[in-house]
Amino acid sequence: MPISTATDSIFNQLGAFGHKKVVYCSDPDTGLKAIIAIHDTTLGPALGGVRMWTYKTEQDALQDVLRLSRSMTYKAAISGLNLGGGSAVIIGDSHKHKTEALMRKFGRFVKNLNGEFIAGEDVGTNLRDMEYIRMETEHVAGLPETIGGSGDPAPIAAMGVFMGIKASVKELFGTDSLTGKAVIVQGIGHVGEHLVKLLRDENVKVYISDINEERASQVSKKYGAEAVTNKDIFDIDADIYSPCALGGTINTQTINKLKCGIIAGSANNQLEDEALHGQMLADKGILFAPDYVINAGGVINCYSELMGFSKKRSLQLTENIYEATRNVLKLSKAESISTIEAANKIAEKRIEAINKVKSSY
Ligand code: NAD
Repeated sequence: MPISTATDSIFNQLGAFGHKKVVYCSDPDTGLKAIIAIHDTTLGPALGGVRMWTYKTEQDALQDVLRLSRSMTYKAAISGLNLGGGSAVIIGDSHKHKTEALMRKFGRFVKNLNGEFIAGEDVGTNLRDMEYIRMETEHVAGLPETIGGSGDPAPIAAMGVFMGIKASVKELFGTDSLTGKAVIVQGIGHVGEHLVKLLRDENVKVYISDINEERASQVSKKYGAEAVTNKDIFDIDADIYSPCALGGTINTQTINKLKCGIIAGSANNQLEDEALHGQMLADKGILFAPDYVINAGGVINCYSELMGFSKKRSLQLTENIYEATRNVLKLSKAESISTIEAANKIAEKRIEAINKVKSSY
């Protein structure tokens, strides 16, 4: 079931997956229209990305922020971080509507949450935007290294996805060597490009697609990857499909077309309907590496920044994604449940255990 439907009341939508709080932010002077969602703070403050996107409707924006914030709770939990789950969306075109004033006004709204939400980067926002938010509040992570932050989280996020791909390949082929494998990377943005580099460094055959064709062509030339159009990607005979654009690309239609044995990418909320499509993939024998397990490198980097940044520690925790993925796949097999169900079980178990610790005295 999707997290909510357009006909649900907002409270029903919050109740459906146990969201704690949703804050609507409006400022006509700067044109800011944003929604901050806090899903769960059992493990710590809700850290999550700020996405700026041209949502067709306010309901689409709400739906996205509810799904993103929930997956942040699970991502932090399964990665062993002391963080809760939250996210924010800003409605608008980041190329046209984003200004310093708009980002700083957004920062004022974050400030008013007194640390319950910590903002980070996501699609449509960048390091400079994090600096603008920092001018208004300390509750922001993913700041530039030049001002004491952890820098762009994308390279480390790509490294985590790479670990997840290797763990999945190990499960299916008995070795984690990527020699002779072919991967389709959909979305060649911050994370996608770094992933293409890691894959090409291991001589993997890489197909890439992006709605920005110019970018696809540049990345294709730079790394020797083959650019394909979005409509062709599901017809390609590859071993791995790596969704690195936006969520919801795995649905009934695409599952029926998919030829690959593994899905492992950075995009958040890849399954249009978690239960239905998680099970459909399991039934079809396609190994789905749960998105929030393998794309945790970014949040790990931000967490490391909050704890006093150490690149070494960030890398260590990101390398653990290999083992975390293996554990999910083992549980899925042992209990004959979908991989997303297995990941949810592991994350929920940790949240419950720590909740007991915190409430015991
Ligand atoms: P980005 O905005 O830099 O890149 C996204 C790319 O996808 C862009 O090049 C865009 O043109 C392309 N795109 C959008 N829609 C597309 C479509 N339908 N088909 C093909 N290409 C499309 O974003 P990013 O930072 O690289 O993040 C990519 C995904 O990974 C997002 O879902 C994000 O939430 C997730 N993620 C990012 C990080 C991070 O540290 N940046 C960490 C974890 C997860």
